[in-house]
Amino acid sequence: MNSFAIGVDLGGTNLRIAAVDAEGKVLERISTDAEVARGRDYVLDEMCRNVRILAAKFSGDGSMAGIGIGVPGIIDQRTGLVHESPNLPGWQNYPARNEIERRLNTKVILENDANVAALGEKWLGSARAVEDVCMLTLGTGVGGGLVLQGNIWHGMTGMAGELGHITVDPYGVQCGCGNRGCLEQYASATAVMRMATEAVARGEAPGFAKAMNQDPQFSAKAIYQMAAQKDPVALQIFSNVGQALGIALANMINVLNLPMYVIGGGVANAWDVFAPALLHQVQRRSFVYNATAPSAEAVQLEKTNANNPYVRQSTIVARASLGSDAGLLGAARLPMIAAADLSGPLPKHASAEVGSGH
Ligand SMILES: [Zn+2]
Repeated sequence: MNSFAIGVDLGGTNLRIAAVDAEGKVLERISTDAEVARGRDYVLDEMCRNVRILAAKFSGDGSMAGIGIGVPGIIDQRTGLVHESPNLPGWQNYPARNEIERRLNTKVILENDANVAALGEKWLGSARAVEDVCMLTLGTGVGGGLVLQGNIWHGMTGMAGELGHITVDPYGVQCGCGNRGCLEQYASATAVMRMATEAVARGEAPGFAKAMNQDPQFSAKAIYQMAAQKDPVALQIFSNVGQALGIALANMINVLNLPMYVIGGGVANAWDVFAPALLHQVQRRSFVYNATAPSAEAVQLEKTNANNPYVRQSTIVARASLGSDAGLLGAARLPMIAAADLSGPLPKHASAEVGSGH
């Protein structure tokens, strides 16, 4: 019998649900508008209805490992409560896990969306060859996830990995979290638009002003296209993005010494224009990076001498490769990991809720 799991990626604008097999093949997917404005119960109804459809369809020829759900918010892994979720009105302090389990009459694993994206990239994406990875997701905000020894690192209660709120400028732009100068204020799509609007207000970017007037959909993507055509203001904006990312990454590399750091999300499509500033900052600020910087020779040596401890290991900073599927696949991976952990030797504190952390 083939095993499969159901992954759910609940975003501020899309609700995506897929049945995924043990090799990571998407058997079927359902995408709908999340319509979060219609309220929490509407979203839960839609989610549970579609989960039931896929579960019924594939249970006939396979066994279901379980259901994993990525949610854009901070989740208390002990209680299944959603603590903060700026993009999901009505979900704050809501016992989402209990309610979904009650509706579906089965256990589910609830997880932060950036954490599941990191797990997806570790399973099938850019980080599939390593056990430890740190991922930054650059979207409307900046999300972060840490996967250590193949498992999501939750910290004490599930709040670990809020990498978007690392301070990159102590006197910088005010952030919604209360701090100033958070990474999110410089490296998200929202931040790219803010920097463009500010350049227009200063009279520095007549090209932007024209484009904004002509195109009501003017977005971070349009600014990237202008940067790709060497528009100097657009290039400066993405240089700022790269600088902020580089400062944050330099600190993380010094602290964590992981083999890989992956950057995904919509803004990562502008990799070509922000990566030079990112790498410049990492080289300038991270002692650990400079001791482990990849060169063509070093990477080749590692490949051919993987088990020789005298061959230096490199720190890789790379683009994510799964696009918007990272979260969906990572969510489906959650119950598979939980099932594998339970079938192995019993840990000291055996628990059915593997999603609650290690
Ligand atoms: Zn912040």
